[in-house]
Amino acid sequence: MASNEELFRKIIAHAKEYGFVFPSSEIYDGLSAVYDYGPFGVELKNNIKEYWWKSMVQYHENIVGLDAAIFMHPAVWKASGHVDAFNDPMIDNKDSKKRYRADVLVEDFILKLEDKIEKEAEKAAKRFGDTFDGKMFRETNPRVLENLQKIQEIKQRFYPALERNDLADVKLLIEELGIVCPISGSRNWTEVRQFNLMFSTQMGSVNEDANTIFLRPETAQGIFVNFLNVQKSARMKIPFGIAQIGKAFRNEIVARQFLFRMREFEQMEMQYFVRPGEEMKWYSYWKDERMKWHLSLGIPAEKYRFHDHDKLAHYANAAADIEFEFPIGFKEIEGIHSRTNFDLGAHQEYSGKKMQYFDQELDERYVPYVVETSIGLDRTFLAVLSNAYREEKLDDGSERVVLGIPARLAPIKVAILPLIKKDGLPEKARELMDTLKYDYRCFYEEKDTIGRRYRRMDALGTPYCLTVDHQTLKDDTVTIRDRDTMKQERIRITDVSIVLREKVAK
Ligand code: ATP
Repeated sequence: MASNEELFRKIIAHAKEYGFVFPSSEIYDGLSAVYDYGPFGVELKNNIKEYWWKSMVQYHENIVGLDAAIFMHPAVWKASGHVDAFNDPMIDNKDSKKRYRADVLVEDFILKLEDKIEKEAEKAAKRFGDTFDGKMFRETNPRVLENLQKIQEIKQRFYPALERNDLADVKLLIEELGIVCPISGSRNWTEVRQFNLMFSTQMGSVNEDANTIFLRPETAQGIFVNFLNVQKSARMKIPFGIAQIGKAFRNEIVARQFLFRMREFEQMEMQYFVRPGEEMKWYSYWKDERMKWHLSLGIPAEKYRFHDHDKLAHYANAAADIEFEFPIGFKEIEGIHSRTNFDLGAHQEYSGKKMQYFDQELDERYVPYVVETSIGLDRTFLAVLSNAYREEKLDDGSERVVLGIPARLAPIKVAILPLIKKDGLPEKARELMDTLKYDYRCFYEEKDTIGRRYRRMDALGTPYCLTVDHQTLKDDTVTIRDRDTMKQERIRITDVSIVLREKVAK
């Protein structure tokens, strides 16, 4: 298999060639970190959205949906802390002229030290075989201890420095650790500066008192400000959740990783409102639930891990990421945050409107606590796509590229292919298409040899192909070909929809 970087490039090229993802405004050389979803990408994206929506809203009686506007009153972003604190510390390398997030440089350095410890332990495990005691090794090996101590020291200095907004110390730390620019290899760094990630625009004409408003950097705030509208209109009782899928915008400093870090992207968020004091119970409940959801996508468990946060955002009392092993390494795909009553409390203060809930069982009024699950739709798309991408050598010596997307997420569920373009086969195939197209996203194709059409469907991740041949005209049977095994079976046309229903639901 290709190296990770090469694999990533291949996935990006495949996504473009097969109509999944195009760079935005490509004829003008693109717009950095903005992408368009093509005909098959939009289907996959919609299927992921639907799967998330169903598992959150349809399967939980106490979770309801919302679709709030992207534009919100500017005071929302003051109350939420985004105007003052939605910053990333950035630093430029004077030689390469490349810009980096200072926190990412330091965190990558820590990751390298952690990697060294892992490698050390793996080496020792090989040396000692069955007698190896990993725990003891980590507690006593001098090199491991030295690295652990170093990590500890960095964290103890770095996170408080960020907290104090002591950017000079962050710069000093980068220098002291000897962190170099990956492009130029030099340590010729500028000062560290804070950079607010919100995009802004003007609402109203300039003559009227135009107001600066922001493009929302997260969908969550639309949920918080509507908390009482939803609770009252849908008669919700705590604990209950509000789910939303929508666009978010961030002027990311470093945005060079395809769908992983975009400036315009989509989030699928659910805010779960709970009694004060019960948030930790729900926090661990949702951590488990969300991990189960990821695994239900048919992606192997070893591709996922939790990362509990050392540094908590201003609104959180506990936070963890679910990380996925992208071709660019293990990175965040979803955040689960215990946001306390920070957001509702802040909106209550700024708006002067009560954001309280009356708990009949307790006979008490309070501002609820919130546990949030926030997953990036585009990152999930990238996870599904990169997990699905396979290059296979076949028995006859040829090669194929196949996207092993689970049937229920696949952009096209079934392709309908007349073996040849004559003898009444296209007409028969069209008839079949007409019976299936209201239930399944189907694809009809009669151009090219059947082998080529199968390959093309493999590359699009189509799980099943139905081929109409001369025998079909005689006995009303078709072959159904399985993308993964490439095996074909002959079934009766009258059974097609039952067979498909069973297969596609898998
Ligand atoms: P990161 O640390 O990678 O910048 P974050 O911690 O800022 O992410 P959150 O604010 O927790 O991210 O947002 C929730 C989810 O939204 C993330 O887990 C991710 O899947 C998605 N997301 C955030 N920023 C982007 C982006 N620029 N492009 C694509 N998806 C994003």
